[in-house]
Amino acid sequence: MSTIANSKYEAVIGLEVHAQLLTESKAFAPVSTEYGGSPNTQVTPLCLGHPGTLPVLNENLVRYIIKMGLATSCSIAEKSIFARKNYFYPDLPKGYQISQFDTPICYEGYIDIELEDYDKRIGVTRIHMEEDAGKSIHDQDPYHTLVDLNRAGTPLIEIVSEPDMRTPKEAYEYLTKIKQIVQYLEICDGNMEEGSLRCDANVSIRPRGQEALGTRTELKNMNSFRNVERAIQYEIERQIDVVESGGEVVQKTLLWDANKLETRQMRTKEEAHDYRYFPEPDLPPVVVTEELLKDIEADLPELPNVRLKRFINDLGLNEEDAINLTESRYLADYYEAALDKLDEPKAVANIILTEVLRVLNEQSITIKEFPVTVDRLVGLISLKLEDKVNSSAMQEIFNKMLDNEKSAEKLAEEMNLLQVSDAGFVEPIIDEVIADNPDEVEKYKGGKKALVGFFIGQVMKKSQGKANPKQVRELLVQKLEEA
Ligand code: ADP
Ligand code: MG
Repeated sequence: MSTIANSKYEAVIGLEVHAQLLTESKAFAPVSTEYGGSPNTQVTPLCLGHPGTLPVLNENLVRYIIKMGLATSCSIAEKSIFARKNYFYPDLPKGYQISQFDTPICYEGYIDIELEDYDKRIGVTRIHMEEDAGKSIHDQDPYHTLVDLNRAGTPLIEIVSEPDMRTPKEAYEYLTKIKQIVQYLEICDGNMEEGSLRCDANVSIRPRGQEALGTRTELKNMNSFRNVERAIQYEIERQIDVVESGGEVVQKTLLWDANKLETRQMRTKEEAHDYRYFPEPDLPPVVVTEELLKDIEADLPELPNVRLKRFINDLGLNEEDAINLTESRYLADYYEAALDKLDEPKAVANIILTEVLRVLNEQSITIKEFPVTVDRLVGLISLKLEDKVNSSAMQEIFNKMLDNEKSAEKLAEEMNLLQVSDAGFVEPIIDEVIADNPDEVEKYKGGKKALVGFFIGQVMKKSQGKANPKQVRELLVQKLEEA
């Protein structure tokens, strides 16, 4: 396989991303969208395609997509219409999907992404509304395909990018940014593995310097962020090989096989698209009033890029820490809730980025499921800042806090880890250590100042970790000089 680095070819990538919206009811019917119900229990005659039923637009679908449009700097169409996208499939009893065709509600926006060495703006061509189809289940009955229509009519938005990406990494970052934005907006949970975020990638290559786009292929079936990156990488290399060996890239749809780490072609039959779009006669145009726009705008949360800059500029965090803290809205919320109680941006960031994130990773949970409340964490950080516990004690207490509800202070007491910063407590210990180690004292006085660490260690050990190391050092140095 060829490699794309230093190659004479450049890749061009455009993504079509579907996000399943977190509305409580379906796009055009008053029935629950909740995940995991028994098959075919969340259906109405409309979802079943019965004749004579009429769709009614869920207002939240409009609000959610406008949020996304505003968050990606799109223009919002004052008036857009729905269209029928016609095709036959067993999980689509109506015989068409309600979508938007030539008048998407959001258009011409962008999403900024950050890569290691550069930042880049990726154009968003359009974002439109549509409904999901049902689900065909092929692996539960040996002779039949089963159909579950609970998902039929679930609201989706499709975000179509300009062909602005040039590397698999850029595509990965763009997709990650979309996930971050939909999560901040609370319009989609952003979970690719569970299918609430889905991505099709269009890939072509062209000789570097050439402006005209090459023939593209479309990759489907990638159900994780890594797989999107891998599949695009694979496809770029495949196309380069085709061209290098004298062939031509043929426009087609390819399925990513995550086990074999390769793409394979769909049956061409599945590919013949003729959707015969036409305007949906049962739904009026969507009209977005100035008032609605203002209302939604006022409701927008601070967006990830803005929050990131604020964390750097106002809180004095370094870029890496700020990126990690703002990656999830809820982690950033947790952090800021802690700052409200203890205005120590760095100390609070440190424990969240090390201890808290470690636990989230180890236990595969999110900050929402993290057992230590903001109050209790702040209590622990305060103990450390007030020199009542040392770093290793802090870590021990933190671990203990994970499986009980006690405050840090209470645990520090119970675990006998409170530092004693009273000179009356450490002085006799220091004297003892000095008296017990005459050779080391001689060496120290002879110039081996590094031995101070040895003495501190002895004192800490004798105090069973309860002495305050800072205080011990000060007193020790003083006493060693006098000894
Ligand atoms: P369709 O809806 O038929 O898939 P679109 O024209 O809407 O086609 O394009 C879909 C996606 O493909 C967009 O994200 C677009 O940027 C991207 N795209 C279009 N042409 C190319 C190309 N030659 N190479 C890579 N991506 C492309
Ligand atoms: Mg497409």
